[in-house]
Amino acid sequence: MKVLLHACCGPCLLEPFDALVAEHDVTVLYANPNIHPAEEYRKRRDTLLAYAAEHDIAVIEEPYDPTLWAQAVAGLEGNPAERCRACFRLRLGIAARTAASLGMDAIATTLTVSPYQDQAAVAEAGATAADEAGIAYLDADFRERYPEATRRSRELGMYRQNYCGCALSDSEAQAEREARREERKAKRAQQEAG
Ligand code: SF4
Repeated sequence: MKVLLHACCGPCLLEPFDALVAEHDVTVLYANPNIHPAEEYRKRRDTLLAYAAEHDIAVIEEPYDPTLWAQAVAGLEGNPAERCRACFRLRLGIAARTAASLGMDAIATTLTVSPYQDQAAVAEAGATAADEAGIAYLDADFRERYPEATRRSRELGMYRQNYCGCALSDSEAQAEREARREERKAKRAQQEAG
């Protein structure tokens, strides 16, 4: 099958690409208008492109238009579960339409390697987008391969981001890190006092 693999970043590309290319003719699509700011978008894209160039992997890049993401999640900013569903639908919708316009058979996404994403929501968005475009969705679950993806990306010295992509996820990740720091501090203080 001719498969268009939507890729969110270089580290997440490694394992899904290897698994899919063993069975299919795979082209990679970088379509991520959710990433903020533009500098971060370029950093993730360039990491992916450098790996692709080294390994002779074909990549298509959609023009970066963050207003698409803002429109897709409008009104859902305070509801992370629904906001992420809308974000998946946006990106996989672009992937499905692009794949269909190029005469490809199916789409897949590297989001399926992440233990941090709602995999049921990713699968639903992928299946709906593919169905609307008249192609197939390869419903894979690559989460078992996440530790290997982490190991390989570290070994390759790839840029590894510490938030999902949008500005809201950046603030949420910072708040979580801060909460964990405070928790550790409180635990230490308790141990010292006891
Ligand atoms: S947290 Fe990630 S998946 Fe959710 S809306 Fe932001 S970029 Fe999209």
